[in-house]
Amino acid sequence: MRKEPYEFPLEEFISGEEFKKIKKFSRDKETPFLIVDLQKVDRMYDKIIENMPFAKIHYAVKANPLDEVVLSLKNKGSNFDVATVYELDQLLSLGVEPERISYGNTIKKEKDIAYAFEKGVRLFATDSESDVKKLSKYAPGSRVFFRILTESDGADWPLSRKFGAHPDLIYKIIMKAEKLGLEPYGLSFHVGSQQRDIGQWDSAIAKCKYLFEAAASKGIKLKMINLGGGFPAKYLSPTNDLETYAREIYRFLSEDFGDELPEILIEPGRSLTADAGIIVSEVVMVSKKARFNQYRWVFLDVGKFGGLIETLDECIKYPIYCEKKGCSEEVILAGPTCDSMDILYEDHKYSFPHTLREGNRVYIFTTGAYTQSYSSVSFNGFPPLKAYVI
Ligand SMILES: *Cc1c(COP(=O)(O)O)cnc(C)c1O
Repeated sequence: MRKEPYEFPLEEFISGEEFKKIKKFSRDKETPFLIVDLQKVDRMYDKIIENMPFAKIHYAVKANPLDEVVLSLKNKGSNFDVATVYELDQLLSLGVEPERISYGNTIKKEKDIAYAFEKGVRLFATDSESDVKKLSKYAPGSRVFFRILTESDGADWPLSRKFGAHPDLIYKIIMKAEKLGLEPYGLSFHVGSQQRDIGQWDSAIAKCKYLFEAAASKGIKLKMINLGGGFPAKYLSPTNDLETYAREIYRFLSEDFGDELPEILIEPGRSLTADAGIIVSEVVMVSKKARFNQYRWVFLDVGKFGGLIETLDECIKYPIYCEKKGCSEEVILAGPTCDSMDILYEDHKYSFPHTLREGNRVYIFTTGAYTQSYSSVSFNGFPPLKAYVI
């Protein structure tokens, strides 16, 4: 086999100028750490607004809950979707008004509903009769939106199966909510995170149309559709661009609802913050398992427990760059902990220069979402992933 020189399309992920800045900033800092570029988050927010002027943004805080990110989005005028009272407390302490917050988790304790209500939250997601009963008691009169079950086909990080209910059951729950004095406000779904098949929104929106009509026939006028997250970040597997997502989704909405679109919410998490992050990591060891094994193992100082949990089943394939030159060589990539599941990529072979050595740095792009907040507190004694905001 002929050996090709190592190549990486760096310019697709960062400009030369920006990369210089990142390297300068990183030079004297101990790896691993995450760098989040706030300007990029802001720019992505603007881009979403520009492409989807018909939608109101509720940032899914769990994607990147750093205070600086929240504050920056708050100043841009964003609304927020929280999963817990802890995220709620964080937002309130940063001065986000409760009117700008939705409680999007369908799994909640009574006392947490009561707490959110007491703090002024009046918009809740739900997907079960049990939760509707709790909401009617502890958040009386609130607006509720009902989450419908969708398949996650086409998503790199599926997350729908756990949430939502079949439209027929949702119909019953809507009736129940009305009867219990809540305001049935709208519907929601999540087609799965990093959803690369735009058609998934089409079938979900069609289900919403059916439910809008079913509810209307009982005199209940639903007003809102929450299109969830699922919008793309730039990993190795290609996606359409945001413009195409926006255009197609708008077309699906218009086909079903004509000129009278309901109020539209979106809950971007990944697409807002992922591209703004870079993890800087160092090679801890390079080794072989047997003399004639084809592949070398490259162990980084960041792994599944240090923030890269979305490499589970190799779902998310991060672009990883190293500055060395040399012939391209396929390797197996793993993290530093003593858990054998801490292997990042074995099926999908990443290529690095054959000159890669211990102590060299690698740059893991598109790591601004679902990394630092996922990192373990001290597994094996490793501290949680540090984050710097620039
Ligand atoms: C996680 C989550 C999101 C964000 O999804 P992304 O694919 O990261 O944009 C949106 N809405 C809800 C309810 C979520 O749980």
